[in-house]
Amino acid sequence: MQAAIAVYPGSFDPFTNGHLDIISRALPFFQRIIVGVVWNPNKQPLFSSAERVDMIQQVCQKFGERVEVLSFTGLLVDFVESQGARVVLRGLRAISDYEYEGQLALTNRHLRPAIETFFLMAREEVSYVSSSMVKQVAMFGGDVSGLVPAVVAERLRAQESKVVVSDKN
Ligand code: ADP
Repeated sequence: MQAAIAVYPGSFDPFTNGHLDIISRALPFFQRIIVGVVWNPNKQPLFSSAERVDMIQQVCQKFGERVEVLSFTGLLVDFVESQGARVVLRGLRAISDYEYEGQLALTNRHLRPAIETFFLMAREEVSYVSSSMVKQVAMFGGDVSGLVPAVVAERLRAQESKVVVSDKN
C-alpha cells in the first residue's frame, strides 16, 4: 500500500539539486508530494516565498500533478494535517544534520504522534550541497550550475548583487 501524501518542508532559499534529488527519489513511494515552502517571519530570505514557490514549481513541472508546491507559515504539523497528510519528508546529509533533524522530528512527534518523519539519505554527489553555500558562491559571482537547477541559477545571477548570506540554510 502506498502512503498517500508526503509533505516535504523546508526553506528552499534557494532550491538546490540536493532538494530535487530527495523529491525524485521519494516520489515512487508516494501518490503525491507537497513541497512546503516555509515562511519564517524571523528570517531574512534571499528570495520571497512567492519567488521560491515559483522557482520550485518550474523545476517540478516535469513530475506533473503529483508534486504540488505551497508556502505555509506556523506549525509544520498543522500544515501537514491541513493537507490530509501523515508523513513529513526530510533529507539527511552529514552527521551535523542529525541533531537538528532529530529535534525537529521528535518535537513534531510530541505535538502529533500520528505524523511520522521519513528521512532519505542524500545522494553522495549532492550531499555537500547546501542553500547557504550556493548563496556564498553566487554572491562572489561563482558558477552555481551543477549545484542548483538552471531556473534557480538564472535567478541567482539576476540578483547577484542582492545576495547576502544571512543564515545557515
Ligand atoms: P530547513 O531550513 O527547513 O532546514 P532546507 O531548505 O535547508 O530547509 O532543507 C530542507 C530539507 O532538505 C532538510 O531536511 C535538509 O536536510 C534537506 N536537504 C538540504 N540539502 C540537501 C541535500 N543536498 N541533499 C539531501 N537533502 C538535503
